[in-house]
Amino acid sequence: MKRLFAVLTSLLLLSAIAIMPASAKSKRFKALIVSGQNNHNWPVSHKALKLILDNSGMFESDIVLTAAAGGDMSKFTPDFEKYDVVVLDYNGDRWPAETDAAFLRYVQNGGGVVVYHAADNAFAGWEEFNKIIALGGWEGRTEKSGPYYYLKDSKPVLDNSPGPGGSHGRQREYPMHCRSAKHPITKGLPDNWIHAQDEMYDRMRGPANIKDLLYSGFADKATGGSGREEPLVFTVDYGKARVFHIMLGHAGATLENNPAMQCAGFQTLVLRGAEWAATGKVKQPLPADFPTDKKPSFRLDYKQPKK
Ligand code: ZN
Repeated sequence: MKRLFAVLTSLLLLSAIAIMPASAKSKRFKALIVSGQNNHNWPVSHKALKLILDNSGMFESDIVLTAAAGGDMSKFTPDFEKYDVVVLDYNGDRWPAETDAAFLRYVQNGGGVVVYHAADNAFAGWEEFNKIIALGGWEGRTEKSGPYYYLKDSKPVLDNSPGPGGSHGRQREYPMHCRSAKHPITKGLPDNWIHAQDEMYDRMRGPANIKDLLYSGFADKATGGSGREEPLVFTVDYGKARVFHIMLGHAGATLENNPAMQCAGFQTLVLRGAEWAATGKVKQPLPADFPTDKKPSFRLDYKQPKK
């Protein structure tokens, strides 16, 4: 009788858990996606980022869009403090001074930031922003922005030679090379895997205050690259802040035709990087659909398939 009672109690408990809303089971991290201007297809990229974050069940994200280029930016005053992580998908006009200050306050107080693709093109003349992203490209960057950073014989090289910052070869599939297998973001993922067709940023420059280089890739000259092993995914050494910088993910024409962001590897890194930026930890296991060293893998609907 006692045993029957125990079984019934646990059944009742299980069914209670099953009908609880997801938010009651575990706290969702609050993410703010900043977009609205970009030299990229931001109407697609910011939606894709929201789908990736929200579909995981771990995040609840808000979107804040600036005015269009040349427009009145004075109303762009998001409350960064409300969020566990701020995801930057923005490359455009300078923010109002009070928003710059609020963002710096948020980051310097130990905030979490994800720097996504062309967000590292933004604000070439804003010194502190460039320390938050560590490396940037285009928008007039030169040797005055800081050294080139690349790997030679697996060791970082800081190269002060003159020249523009930021370029990339032709889009292609390419192998990702892990450089810090013990970091929470990379732990348990394969050392080498194929990223779906994308740009590979190269010749990036900046203060180069990379904390942990997580992945690099070889920018093959045969496809118009620098001929160097380039940093592609890393964390930034910036005080108490947790900054995750991912250069992958050039947006496609539509949400349905967006291979670089539909890559299961890209989506896994965004989720792991965002969790780490929010908490300093990563609790996500290796997904069953992660790309291998032979071929890429896709989540066309921006959602990890159920096992
Ligand atoms: Zn791009």
